[in-house]
Amino acid sequence: VSLVSESDSIGPLVVSGQLPAQRVLLLAPPTSYQIEDFLVAAERLGVEVVVAADQASTLHRAQPNRLLTIPLTDPHRAARAIADFARHHAIGAVIGVDEETTVVAAAIARELGLRHIPFESATAVRDKYQLRRRLQTAGLPVPWFRLVPRESDPHDLAQEVAYPCVLKPLFLSASRGVIRVNNPDEFVRAFARVGKILNQPDVVRRGGALARSLLIEGYIPGQELALEGLVTEGELQVLAVFDKPDPLEGPYFEETIYVTPSRLPLSAQASIRDCTRRACLALGLDDGPIHAELRFNGDGPWIIEVAARTIGGLCSRTLRFGLGLTLEEVVLRHALRMPLPSFERHPRPAGVMMIPIPRRGILREVRGLAEASAVPGIEGVTITVHRGEELIPLPEGSRYLGFIFARAETPQQVEAALREAHRCLSFVIEDSRSSEIEEPETA
Ligand code: ADP
Ligand code: CA
Repeated sequence: VSLVSESDSIGPLVVSGQLPAQRVLLLAPPTSYQIEDFLVAAERLGVEVVVAADQASTLHRAQPNRLLTIPLTDPHRAARAIADFARHHAIGAVIGVDEETTVVAAAIARELGLRHIPFESATAVRDKYQLRRRLQTAGLPVPWFRLVPRESDPHDLAQEVAYPCVLKPLFLSASRGVIRVNNPDEFVRAFARVGKILNQPDVVRRGGALARSLLIEGYIPGQELALEGLVTEGELQVLAVFDKPDPLEGPYFEETIYVTPSRLPLSAQASIRDCTRRACLALGLDDGPIHAELRFNGDGPWIIEVAARTIGGLCSRTLRFGLGLTLEEVVLRHALRMPLPSFERHPRPAGVMMIPIPRRGILREVRGLAEASAVPGIEGVTITVHRGEELIPLPEGSRYLGFIFARAETPQQVEAALREAHRCLSFVIEDSRSSEIEEPETA
């Protein structure tokens, strides 16, 4: 078992002078956006965080004595490694930031006897096919769906399915590889495109057997929402409901604007809450944060997805609870069973825009940041792609260009501020191919 404590040459794992009251193990891929916000939250709570990743990350340079390297693609081996570590460093809670690490967190929690969703539930929600099956069995509203091997003949399938439908990988995120098709021609082309994504080395490595199939499901029209929740002893507490006001009609589903509170009628929101509660029950998500995505139309709410984690990217920064707690503080307190004074979201409407990737190429420059930040209601603009990095649009891409945050009197004003700030920005993007010629590898 290769548990490498990166601290070996530095000293003991505990950095602070006094013995910390609690230690949390945070599992995150090295590129995760969330690590920093969890570290800040832990600092505020006086809790020590040890990050476990499967590769050294940027965090490693910043805080080498708080990073463990474990095999995230092998939950059982990772769990045994952490059990060894925990013999000398008591762990009070384990948190995964995404679907993959939550599976590992569940295995570790089981090994250490910590409170967490069951391993089977974490595994089921990571696999979109299993997720659909469990929800369907429980009688929840889901579209028709069909699991097909990647090697299937798309021409045959294209004649068998109903349109419009959606093709998607079983386990990726941020809409990577999710394509809507309206006819057999589009189906055949999209099938090949998703197949190629499933052949990419990182996808094969992470997905294992899951990368050998894809899911086809009926397209659900309607407005999309996201629900952030926290489950305690099986009881779902709704933390926030977000509208996604941009029409997400495909063929690709780039996430852009999230605004809370939702402008849907309260009765519709109640049905969304109820649907999510039943979904959590059906999936065995009985503890910790959940992030649900639903569509709402004339037939009521439909579940797109429920994940056992917090909202992705930096989007949690739109939320504040009680006397100013961040979502990460709420999650840490919950995991450690520290008192949670209030789940009440600060009532001021807030939102975030995940900045769309305009086209493929190398990002050279971002212009208009000062103008965008000066738009009334805008709280911040964060570009998360570095200059010189390649931008890859959907369906192949998986990273966000950046985030715009806003707060205002009404959800409408929040949305308008986000759109205006976005209009101020322009991106200098150079053709990837020409830059390859200009900048040959110097290894
Ligand atoms: P990911 O895990 O990559 O986010 P999802 O299954 O959540 O994958 O799909 C991403 C987005 O694609 C959803 O947020 C939604 O906008 C759209 N989408 C996915 N499945 C459907 C569907 N069956 N009907 C309509 N839209 C869908
Ligand atoms: Ca999703």
